[in-house]
Amino acid sequence: MRKFETTLITSGRDQKYTYGAINPIIQRTSSVVFNSIQQKQQAVNNHSTTDKLFYGRYGTITHFSLRQSMTELENGVGCVLYPCGTAAITHTILSFVQPGDHILMTGSAYEPTQKFCRYVLKRMNIDTTWFDPLIGNNISNLIRHNTRLVILESPGSITMEVQNVPSIVQAVRKKKSDIIILLDNTWSAGVFFKALDIGVDVSLQSGTKYIIGHSDGMIGTAVSNARCWDQLQEQSYLMGQMVDADTAYMASRGLRTLYVRLKQHEENGLHVAHWLAQHPAIERVNHPALSACKGHKYFIRDFSGSSGLFSFILKKRLNDLQLSNFINHFKYFKIAYSWGGFESLILVNQIEELRPIRPSGTLDFTGTLVRIHVGLEHPSDLIHDLSDALNRINV
Ligand SMILES: *Cc1c(COP(=O)(O)O)cnc(C)c1O
Repeated sequence: MRKFETTLITSGRDQKYTYGAINPIIQRTSSVVFNSIQQKQQAVNNHSTTDKLFYGRYGTITHFSLRQSMTELENGVGCVLYPCGTAAITHTILSFVQPGDHILMTGSAYEPTQKFCRYVLKRMNIDTTWFDPLIGNNISNLIRHNTRLVILESPGSITMEVQNVPSIVQAVRKKKSDIIILLDNTWSAGVFFKALDIGVDVSLQSGTKYIIGHSDGMIGTAVSNARCWDQLQEQSYLMGQMVDADTAYMASRGLRTLYVRLKQHEENGLHVAHWLAQHPAIERVNHPALSACKGHKYFIRDFSGSSGLFSFILKKRLNDLQLSNFINHFKYFKIAYSWGGFESLILVNQIEELRPIRPSGTLDFTGTLVRIHVGLEHPSDLIHDLSDALNRINV
């Protein structure tokens, strides 16, 4: 069997996508012109099962190529594209729920994912229960007769807990086999963690992060197994989910260098994480590959590598002045949301900002939390930058 790196280079580049070029063509269109009423009818009949053009909203050759690549990357049977990661998450959820349903969601989920359940699904009489990301097979106890979805994210946003996904999947399947399991796989980019191989139904990604990889576009992807594919595809289409051909092209282009970029993010990230771990001002480094990170043993067992995003906790809680001194003067780390581009980014969280989005009892620290994305700069420059910042808070 061919190696994964080769698949990333080769996928989505058949003649039918490239027309003799190296890359897939950018086909921008709304209307698709049919030569006869028979051809139109054929396109209608085939619209959800093939790569055949039907209408711009369903995708063009550029989209078909990217969908093919993502499907191969995550070992699914199909991929739906969305305008951003949040749209991928919310519309995948909407594709499967109805009023009266119950959702189980990891308490470490991305904040907007949580808020969608709290403020949108709630209005539709769909209830959500949040659970400790380290729950493992005890998830069985939370399953109700009307539980429809289990939503995982591993590692979790900000606090980086790695979940025991195989154990959760097994316990859910055993208790109620019609539950659909979704997993936000953005951190691993679908490269280091093969969610569908472990039994997850749909792997979601904010392709805005590593797939596009250059902080200049937004896209979301949902790769599904056979069981959920028809419903996910048709329902997302009915909700008008699509992305423009130019952005789809940028995502395909990003895939060609995804593996080498990730390997460098991994190397740089580990270098910086190990340096931070021995710094006297730091209580703990939440990097999945370091033993202090919650769920580290599942990382070792289930992942084949790490990306560049992690967090660390300072021994002390910084006051407002110390916080400004610390964060406002970095040379290379920019203060910004998002991550996954070539550049380093930084954000800070005080404990009270995290409390509303974490189940009670799961936050076991008091110091200020710092989240960083380690980019492709030389790690020694990044370490100097961090060292200067830690000196500014006099510890
Ligand atoms: C950024 C992010 C999202 C949302 O993606 P957008 O493309 O910004 O909508 C979802 N999940 C995780 C884990 C993220 O980091």
